[in-house]
Amino acid sequence: MRWFVGVLGAGRKVARGGVALSCPGPVPSSRRVVSSPMRAAWPRAPVSKMVSVKAQLMEKLIKEESPPQNKVSIIGAGSVGMACAITILIRELTDELALVDADENIVKGQMMDLQHGSPFINMPKIVSGTDYRVTANSKLIIITAGLRQKKGQSRLDLVFGNVEIFRSMIPSIVQYSPNCILLVVTNPVDIMTYVAWKFSSLNIHRVIGSGCNLDTARFRLLIGEKMGIHSRSCYGWVLGEHGDSSVPVWTGVNIAGASLKDFNLDIGTSKDTEQWGNLHKKVVASAYEVIKLKGYTSWAIGLSVADMTGTIMKNLRKVHSVSTMIKGLYGIKEEVFLSVPCVLGKDGISDILKVNLNPEEEALLRKSGATLWETQQQLKL
Ligand code: NAD
Repeated sequence: MRWFVGVLGAGRKVARGGVALSCPGPVPSSRRVVSSPMRAAWPRAPVSKMVSVKAQLMEKLIKEESPPQNKVSIIGAGSVGMACAITILIRELTDELALVDADENIVKGQMMDLQHGSPFINMPKIVSGTDYRVTANSKLIIITAGLRQKKGQSRLDLVFGNVEIFRSMIPSIVQYSPNCILLVVTNPVDIMTYVAWKFSSLNIHRVIGSGCNLDTARFRLLIGEKMGIHSRSCYGWVLGEHGDSSVPVWTGVNIAGASLKDFNLDIGTSKDTEQWGNLHKKVVASAYEVIKLKGYTSWAIGLSVADMTGTIMKNLRKVHSVSTMIKGLYGIKEEVFLSVPCVLGKDGISDILKVNLNPEEEALLRKSGATLWETQQQLKL
């Protein structure tokens, strides 16, 4: 009676072994069927080879499928990792997404929750696990795993714990995807990008920190709010350290090519009566404010990472303010990672733009570099 298993409506046909069977009348429960004296009178399933519906309907032309061509992996399935994941999926930037987290239940739950939305978007294959094998053949690996800031903590407070996490995971990541690009998001992002570079031994252009891409977005939003113009039409750059010592480049702030400094020579300085400098103070304070309000930040960093993912996966050569090794630029002599405008594409960072900074901006960049170098020297890598 195995052909009977499942809920069959009265008179419904069941295909098995290529033969259609018909169950007459209302269908009793399977338990009643087993004890029914009618049993012998029911048609028996024909003894034939099991041929699945799939095998009957589909003729396979390819024996072995080739690996994905545009695979993205996200390490860390927490708030930031999942904000990156959903944005990357909605923007259709990958043909396979892998999620890895140290927590087996979380990562499986997150994967399933995403998969259940499959009919609503062009959802690619999603795989997950605690083993880095699932990330094999990735083009881009986004690292969000690690400790996050708690209320009152600075990004630098996280460094020692996150170094140990990177020590355990970076070699496995590179083992399975030796030609990948690493995009580091974990904080303190500039130092963690240096750490990822050291542990991975990847070429410098393949290790990128999300850096000030988000700070730059926050800056543009605030300029837009002050001017009553959409952030996408307001141009300005935040460089240097992601966070507390980031550097706004006031000379470059413009709308439709019109430099705001031409209208206000003191813009961004303490002499400025319009106090544009407060915008940058708000940029620095914004993560702390969001963390105080909701406990963590996620959506804007997810959108920012997905934007960079699009640039890399589609080889767009767009310019982003991302963290890269800056030794030799702006008088910096140490191996530190800071954000400068970089051209991103299929090989990672192809070019660094050497924008002119005024002496104060250069001095601020050097100060950030010195702070990071001091911390880096305390790390045992
Ligand atoms: P979260 O706690 O929600 O998620 C972190 C995840 O990492 C957890 O699921 C945890 O299980 C996992 N994890 C921890 N150790 C691991 C290991 N050894 N291997 C694999 N997975 C491991 O934190 P979050 O809010 O998603 O933040 C993640 C990181 O991103 C933090 O460091 C945070 O400060 C940083 N962040 C960076 C930016 C930026 O602009 N660069 C913005 C926001 C947050």
